[in-house]
Order: sequence, then C-alpha cells, then structure tokens
Amino acid sequence: MKKYDKLIFELSRPGRKGYQLPADNFGTDGLAAMPAGLLRQNAPELPEVSELDVVRHYTNLSNKNFGVDTGFYPLGSCTMKYNPKINEEIAAMPEFAALHPLQDPDTAQGALELYYNLQQALSNISGLAEFTLNPYAGAHGELTGLMVMRQYHISRGDTRRTKVIVPDTAHGTNPASAMVAGLEVVEVKSKPNGSIDVEDLKPLLDDTIAGIMMTNPNTVGMFETEILEIADLVHKAGGLLYYDGANLNPLLGKVRPGDMGFDIMHINLHKTFSTPHGGGGPGSGPVGVAAHLVEFLPNPRVRKDENGRFHVGGSDKSLGNVSTFFGNFGVMMKAYAYILSLGRDNIRNVGPMATLNANYIKESLKDLYKLPIDGVCKHEFVFDGLADKSTGVTTLHVAKRLLDYGFHAPTIYFPLLFHESMMIEPTETESLETLDEFIDAMRKVANEAAVSPEIVKDAPNTTPMSHPDETGAAKDPVLSYRALKNSAKWTQIS
Ligand SMILES: *Cc1c(COP(=O)(O)O)cnc(C)c1O
Repeated sequence: MKKYDKLIFELSRPGRKGYQLPADNFGTDGLAAMPAGLLRQNAPELPEVSELDVVRHYTNLSNKNFGVDTGFYPLGSCTMKYNPKINEEIAAMPEFAALHPLQDPDTAQGALELYYNLQQALSNISGLAEFTLNPYAGAHGELTGLMVMRQYHISRGDTRRTKVIVPDTAHGTNPASAMVAGLEVVEVKSKPNGSIDVEDLKPLLDDTIAGIMMTNPNTVGMFETEILEIADLVHKAGGLLYYDGANLNPLLGKVRPGDMGFDIMHINLHKTFSTPHGGGGPGSGPVGVAAHLVEFLPNPRVRKDENGRFHVGGSDKSLGNVSTFFGNFGVMMKAYAYILSLGRDNIRNVGPMATLNANYIKESLKDLYKLPIDGVCKHEFVFDGLADKSTGVTTLHVAKRLLDYGFHAPTIYFPLLFHESMMIEPTETESLETLDEFIDAMRKVANEAAVSPEIVKDAPNTTPMSHPDETGAAKDPVLSYRALKNSAKWTQIS
C-alpha cells in the first residue's frame, strides 16, 4: 500500500504537528470562566500529522474521485453538465457572500434584486406566475409544492382531496414527498412507449384527487404528447398538476410547463442551472406556481415597490417557512449568472443540443443494447441492458466495466420499468469526440461480453477499489476510525 493510500490516522506520529496556534488565544481568564465539567480531561484522539502529509493525503484522495471535471458523466436524470467556472467566482464575490441574512434589507438591495430577478427569469422560462427560491433541493421543492397544493384545497374547504396520482415511471422522490406532505399516493400506469396511459388515468379522477405529479419529458426521456388532454382531465376533476422540473434541461426556452397546463413546479437549479452536484453539495429547488396559488408560497418573499426598492415580506395565507431565510443563495447566484450569460436566444440551443447528443448515442448503440422504447427521445434515453443476455453480463457489469475505460457509469436500474435499465444522459455540453469515445467504449464492452464475459464480470480493475461491499456499507456502516479499529473489518485491512 502506498503511503498516502493509508488512513490519515495511520500516518499519525505522536507530537507531529501541522499547525501553530497563538500561545494564549483565549487567555487564562477565558479558560477559567469555562465550567470545569465542560473542560475535557484527555486530549482528543486526532491524527498528529505534518502539514505536508495532510495536503498530500487529501490531494491524493481527491484524485481518486471521478467528477465532471475529470471525465464524461452520462448519469441519466441527474443532468451532470459542465458548469462554467466563472459562475463559481461570481458566487464567491464577497459583496454577496459576506452579507448577513439578518442585516437591514436597505443594505442588501443588490442581493434582493438578484433574488427577485432570478425569480422573474424562472417565471419567464417556465410560464408560471411566481417563484419562491427558498427550497434547498428538488425533493424539498416537491414537498413545498405539494404543501401549496394541499393549502389550496383546504382554503376552499375541499378537504376530501388527499390523494396524489404518480406515474409508475416516477422518480422515487415523488411518492416520498407526497407521503411526507400527508397525501396518499395513487399509481397511474404507463403505456409500453413510456407515457402515461390516459385510459388508466380517467377512472382515478374523482373528488378525492388533490392532483397529479408528472415529469415531462418523463423518466424514459419521452415527451408526453397527450399532456394537454391530461391537464384538461385533471383540471375538470378539480385537481392540480405538479411538474417535476428535473428534466427541464431539454425544454429551456422552447416549451413552458405553464403552457402545458401545469399549476405548480420545481426546478433543480443544481441540474439545469449551473451548480455542480456530484458530491451531493448545496442545491436549490425553486417552486413556481400559477397566479391563483401565489398567496400560498412560503415566506419570506421578496417584493419590489413602485420606486424600485426591494422588501422582505410574506403572505398571511402562506404555508409558512420551509428554509432558513432565503435558502442557498450561492446556488441562486450561479443560476442567475448562467441565465444572463446565455441570454434569451442562446438558452434555446441547450435543449436541441442535449436532444441531438442523446439521440446520437442511442442510434449508435441500439444494435448492441436493447432499446425498449424506440423513437426520438429528448435529452436522455433508457437501454434495457445488452441486446444479447445469454452471457449473463448484466447492466451492473457493464456499468463497472465502463469505469475501466475512464467513464462514469450511467444511471442503472432506474426507472424500474425494465429489469436492466441503463439510463444515459450526455447533456448539451459534450463534444462529438467525447460522445464517440463513449460509444466506442460501450461497443467494446458489448463485444467483450460476447467474447470473454468474465472480463466484464470482474471489472473494474483500474479503480482504487474493485468490488466494495455495497450492501455492508449501507446496512453496517463503519463511520469512524475508532469504530473501524474495533470492528472485524480491521483485521481484514491491516
Ligand atoms: C433529481 C431528481 C429529483 C430530486 O431532486 P433532488 O434535487 O435530488 O432532491 C426528482 N425527480 C427527478 C426526475 C430527478 O431526476
């Protein structure tokens, strides 16, 4: 094992230091003022390492990571596109980053203006009346939007509406958010082509339905062409339409959920609008609503008066607060910079390019991989594993073998519609050469599977770790060095 592959605790040597603190930072008085019971008796068990060892350890660790900055990342449903680095610099500007959320709004007019303008831009892009930018992520936006839906029905005394219709292709967060919002989930089936079966929907629409949640294009990358009829049916039955905006990328500037008949939606700023989220970092899930739902949006809200000044306010009918202050402001800054830098005209190119890239990969591989839903897809599509399944090479094996070729795996085993789902989303930002390299690797893997399947089944061989115990990691996690030393795993490692 190389020195820096070890755990940082194993590099520890008694007395070695990587820092210098001022001799007496708190003063003896400060320490004396601390109640004796709160003072620790023994030194904490921390690694004792030099600065250089710390730097090398973490730099080496970071190099083992795969990210959009290191290679192609076709993770369907997640829109892992290139996010311009300049937006990071903008988000770090101290004029914004150093603001305190409790300072007088008169001294933070620029930040409030940015919030207001971004909200307006998202309204224009989506065709909905107003947005709140407060929720922290897509799933949080779903919960917020469903609370708006509930609040709307309750305000009309329509308290029987407690069910939400969710398609069987939906992202897992949809039914989960509905449950957390106190609503019951009713499933609607999809047709073989992946779109909602309108005939299956009709009998579900009674006066207990609060609304329907949809993703369009849906999770198999197909546009729901019957959306206008679906919207009409749901509205006539007294329900509302919720749009899961995780797949907004291919529609940017082209088609608007509000025009399709949706009343409520969320947008994942960290998917469509320039925030890297590979490590699950800070996100933002703005929620937009049609005019008749604006008063239920969460507080606080930003208002603009006739003199162009911005105020922090709220509505009495609001469902309350869903975040601390205004949510993740840095993410909003990146989204705003991204929208302004593309502009009204260029933002229209995002969708067609993402769509072209997805269809190019699909058509280049469909002779070797099983394509259950043929036809023109939007920004992503789903293969149902290899066309030839006789060798026992599964989607999991293919995904792991791709790592050896230097690519991140696509999303696998989602959607649940097919047994061997492999969901590929290239995004609009990849070059033709990168797409060709990926196609080449996918073809190589399929050929290996046919000729020497063991190579694929044993993969990956070039990654720092080959076959981690994924179930064990989830069911019996060992999360600290001390726990590791006391566990059976320690003897395996050392
Ligand atoms: C990512 C995603 C979500 C959830 O969004 P988060 O920001 O990860 O909470 C919901 N629906 C779909 C279709 C998604 O792809």
